[in-house]
Parts: sequence; structure tokens; C-alpha cells
Amino acid sequence: MRFLHRNRMFEDNYRQRGLRNKLVKTLEKKGISDPNVLKAIGKVPRHVFFETALLDHAYQDKAFPIGEGQTISQPYTVAFQTEKLEIKPGDKVLEIGTGSGYQACILLELGAKVYTIEYNKKLYDRTKVLLPKLGYSPYFFHGDGSKGLPAKAPYNKIIVTAGAPVVPKSLTDQLADNGILIIPVGNRDKQVMLRITKKKDQLITEEFENFAFVPLLGKEGWGS
Ligand code: SAM
Repeated sequence: MRFLHRNRMFEDNYRQRGLRNKLVKTLEKKGISDPNVLKAIGKVPRHVFFETALLDHAYQDKAFPIGEGQTISQPYTVAFQTEKLEIKPGDKVLEIGTGSGYQACILLELGAKVYTIEYNKKLYDRTKVLLPKLGYSPYFFHGDGSKGLPAKAPYNKIIVTAGAPVVPKSLTDQLADNGILIIPVGNRDKQVMLRITKKKDQLITEEFENFAFVPLLGKEGWGS
């Protein structure tokens, strides 16, 4: 398969597919067990999201810089959040923090209808052009996702890919009944992953392990 990205032809060759299979095995060893999530990780070409100088790092289980002081999340983190969302084909999903677009591609591979919002204009512009070239077409929005995206609510699932100081009320308000929000909450350096399920206006919170995300900016985040 070949992709055109910023005037460079990208190849998805035998070596990259091999590295991707290795990454899937690493994630399985770390406890990711949903076969559909593993299949999606095995399918989306992560190297396409990397600068030339960093290409060799694309299939390491690590977060990496994507410019603008932001990162593409660690594959384990992407797989962990996705697994906890229990995506079903046709689910309407809101992603907060489009970043590189990699997470959005994984959600699309699982058959979700994806609305993704990014605060940083340069990243928004870049990803909006790149993803359709790869065959992935979520609905792109530019703005403060800490307030959700009320115009398109409610959502079956909401995923926040930046660390929040508290759970934004706007996000739980925009969840459909039986909807799930996955969000890292804590301080600027370390957050605990929370899964919040809405059952007839009751919110059930589960707590998982710690992660380290870049801060969620905006009105219901850390500010601008
Ligand atoms: N999901 C991304 C991916 O697959 O590459 C990784 C996201 S990166 C860890 C966090 C992203 O959240 C950054 O691109 C950052 O600009 C964005 N962000 C931070 N605060 C935001 C907000 N209030 N609304 C929307 N995006 C926000």
C-alpha cells in the first residue's frame, strides 16, 4: 500500500507490517485482550504519523512528539482507552484531542462514527488533510473540546486524550444513556484513568491505572 503525505510517498512495506505485528504481541503481553482492538492496531500504519527523523520509532510502544508541543499517544494507552470504551460498530464517538489522528483511525477501524475535536489550529489543519488521504474520514472540528461538542450530542462513547484536572460536567451531560466516558484525571504530570458509565442519569465511576498525558486545555480543563 502507498500513501502520499506532505509530498512524500509513504510505503506500508513488509518490514513495517512485521514491526506492527510485533507491537500487537507486545500489547497482548501487557494485557490488551480485545481481538478487535488488537486487529485495529495491527492495521493502522502508525509510521505515517511520524516525522522522517523519527520513523524508526514508529512501532515502539512509546509516545512521540508530533509538533506544537503535543504527542501521539503511546500505543498501549491508545489500546487501553479503546478497549475500555467497548466500541460497537455504529457507536457515535466523540474524541477530544485529535492530535495526529492515530486514535481516530483506530476508532474508525472498529466501525465507530467518529467526531474528533482539536484545540490547536495547526494540528487540526494538518490532520484534517492527512486522514482522508489514508482512507479515514472522521468528522473534524476545531475548538475547545473540554466543553464537548454539544451540537452533535449525545454520544455513545467519549474519549479524552489529554489529562484533565476534573471530569468536565459538559462531557457527562453529553453522554447518551448507557454511554461511556474514558478520561485521564489528575495533575499536570500524572493522571488516573477513569471510566464513567451513565445509567439513567446515574454516573458509575471505575478507576484504573495511572498515565501521563499532556494537559487538557480550555474552559473545563486547565485553561488556555
Ligand atoms: N489522540 C491523539 C492522537 O491519536 O495522536 C493524541 C492526542 S495528544 C496526547 C492530546 C491532544 O489534545 C493534543 O493534540 C492537544 O492539542 C489536544 N487538546 C488539549 N486540550 C484540548 C481541548 N480543550 N480541546 C481539544 N483538544 C485539546
